[in-house]
Amino acid sequence: MSERVFISPAKYVQGKNVIDRLGTYVSPIGDVALVIADDVVWKIVEERVHASFSAEGIKIEKADFSGEASKHEVERIAAQAKDAGVKFVMGVGGGKTLDTAKAVSDEFHLPVVIVPTIASTDAPTSALSVIYSDEGIFESYRFYNKNPDLVLVDTKLISEAPARFFASGIADALATWVEVRSVIAFGGTTMAGGRPTIAAEAIAKRCEEVLFEHGRLAYESVQAKVVTPALEAVVEANTLLSGLGFESGGLAAAHAIHNGFTALEGDIHHLTHGEKVAFGTLVQLALEEHPQEEIERYISFYMDLGLPVTLEDVKLKDASREDILKVGHAATAEGETIHSGFDVTADEVADAIIAADRYSKAYQAKLKN
Ligand SMILES: [Zn+2]
Repeated sequence: MSERVFISPAKYVQGKNVIDRLGTYVSPIGDVALVIADDVVWKIVEERVHASFSAEGIKIEKADFSGEASKHEVERIAAQAKDAGVKFVMGVGGGKTLDTAKAVSDEFHLPVVIVPTIASTDAPTSALSVIYSDEGIFESYRFYNKNPDLVLVDTKLISEAPARFFASGIADALATWVEVRSVIAFGGTTMAGGRPTIAAEAIAKRCEEVLFEHGRLAYESVQAKVVTPALEAVVEANTLLSGLGFESGGLAAAHAIHNGFTALEGDIHHLTHGEKVAFGTLVQLALEEHPQEEIERYISFYMDLGLPVTLEDVKLKDASREDILKVGHAATAEGETIHSGFDVTADEVADAIIAADRYSKAYQAKLKN
């Protein structure tokens, strides 16, 4: 495939307390909303969403999200909303809630509004969902004809969410340039179904720069629950730059290895998407040829943000070569994104997993001396 393809949401809005203006932004889209959110998130935003919607005469049909972006969950919510006369679907919450909202809107061919309350993944802006089994094992990417109609990010809400989720979003965003540059170098195709554009390349590259420049300060800001210029910059990197970058620039090994990890049993399922992607990124770097300082720059950054850098950190301290090879096989399964950036075998991925763990341990040992 030789054509360049770039896709994006119709509108992106980001700012402090912007949730109070949600009604103004959604009123051109429709007057009956199917709102998907879990109990915890809904309790935090319910009053303000109701106030801003009722000021614009927008009605709400509420659906509870039960925790997994699975085929069953999408079918359950779609069945509930079937006769409610909804004009658009709105997801409020984390990546899995938002992915479910996109899938439900696709079932009805309705517009979708995405309101992330944590900056933990780059799911919000894309025209795809990651579908898991009810047990949380990666199943497939579900692609849509269009991106969300509106993505609205309240940075005050983000600043009040747990710092661990914010760090996870930074890790997901930091994978973007690492993966995009390998797709470009290898001549692979992107999640948008074409070759990367210059625009996607520039966005992905800038994403990484912003994270290294402001990531540590933004992480401090979230721990103090304050909105700062550093936080605003990194929320945009985590959400918009990473979202546009990965989708139109391509995913490669880091995400395929993440998907491979979900095939294992045990405590690894307690890790966030971004935490698994952080280690997956180190594995991708170990698959490539980089100077030691370059790899240590990533390890150091992850460590400062409390992200996993060793097999022990991803709860795989006692994993056998067989288990690691299982991850390698899942990561190199047919259709996996690793094939957009690499010509690689399961055995080579297994070696890189073991190498990445070793590189991090050597760096940590050096710090102690
Ligand atoms: Zn991701």
